[in-house]
Amino acid sequence: MLTDGPLLPDTGEPGFGIYVHWPFCAAKCPYCDFNSHVRHQPVDQARFTAAFLREMDTMRELSGPKTVTSIFMGGGTPSLMEPATVEAILDGLAARWHVPSGIEVTMEANPSSVEATRFRGYRAAGVNRVSLGVQALNDPDLRFLGRLHDVADALKAIRLARDIFPRMSFDLIYARPKQSIDAWAEELKEAISYAVDHLSLYQLTIEEGTAFYGLHKAGKLIVPDEEHAATLYEATQDIMAGFGMPAYEVSNHATPGAESRHNLTYWRYGDYVGIGPGAHGRLSPRGGKVATATERHPETWLTAVEAQGHGMIDQEDLDDEAQADEVLLMGLRLREGVDLARWQQLAGRDPHPDREQFLIDQGFIERIGNARLRCTPKGMLVLNAVVADLAS
Ligand code: SF4
Repeated sequence: MLTDGPLLPDTGEPGFGIYVHWPFCAAKCPYCDFNSHVRHQPVDQARFTAAFLREMDTMRELSGPKTVTSIFMGGGTPSLMEPATVEAILDGLAARWHVPSGIEVTMEANPSSVEATRFRGYRAAGVNRVSLGVQALNDPDLRFLGRLHDVADALKAIRLARDIFPRMSFDLIYARPKQSIDAWAEELKEAISYAVDHLSLYQLTIEEGTAFYGLHKAGKLIVPDEEHAATLYEATQDIMAGFGMPAYEVSNHATPGAESRHNLTYWRYGDYVGIGPGAHGRLSPRGGKVATATERHPETWLTAVEAQGHGMIDQEDLDDEAQADEVLLMGLRLREGVDLARWQQLAGRDPHPDREQFLIDQGFIERIGNARLRCTPKGMLVLNAVVADLAS
């Protein structure tokens, strides 16, 4: 079910976000292909903090003066950072860019690394939104997902987050092996009873290079087939919409107005700075868009920053065509879809009429008036193919 309703309005000004990547985790989850690393010695947080501050200087030179609309600390597990580290990073950002008070400052946290004193420290440092990696609400599935927490830890973390932060969200992973529609519906409804106004619900996908990938290839891990996964997805959309938290993006659900501003900046193709190992950015220093990427390996990134002031390994000017592709790829994730005038301006053409009509006839996309184009829920399931078809 695709529900319309007010979303934080698309004013044509998608905002300017800052992403900071903390690349360490206590253990590597078997499904995870994020840039996350386990270290058996304590991480030198002071040294990393100094490197974050140095890389900020380089990024500030590249972006020029800007007013920040959101900050996101992701990972990895940023809740392994000491509150003093978080404070130094947030102060460092505010010393380099204009950071108005009250903007969204999100931090990802894992229930296994949560305790009240730490949470209060993050709050005092300026974090006002927390996103918890809960992932499942039954212990056998949490163990299967390789998580270090159990349901009791998750519920404690949710309670603390609700008490301490003005805004909170948590993630769940569904389409787990042998997961029935009824079991997922029950679990999701339980999750909704703990949620405030935002939930991220991801389908389990098997990514190359993960432990699950090897097991899956060897036939030792069977995940729901496409049809069952699609049914789980549709059930998710219906249940969430029924509880007033419709999808505003493929996997993200919120009551209207509670959407993540930071993620909206990505999907509306705004600019953002990426700081830390493996962080990506999109900046417009000379009018056109520049894509930045930093070294992924934490210690290699650290020594690069210490030697040259940044860990960037790529800085690519994106031509109009590349930007038009990204506008589609990002915007079609959103329920509000893509602003066609913006896409036309970059692509230098309208969507090919036959191709568009074909995708409409197949039920993958639809027009919202003349100004916007969006994916239907069916189209969301094959988003990359839809984008490839429209962009070619
Ligand atoms: S906690 Fe998150 S980032 Fe870390 S390994 Fe697990 S899924 Fe990946």
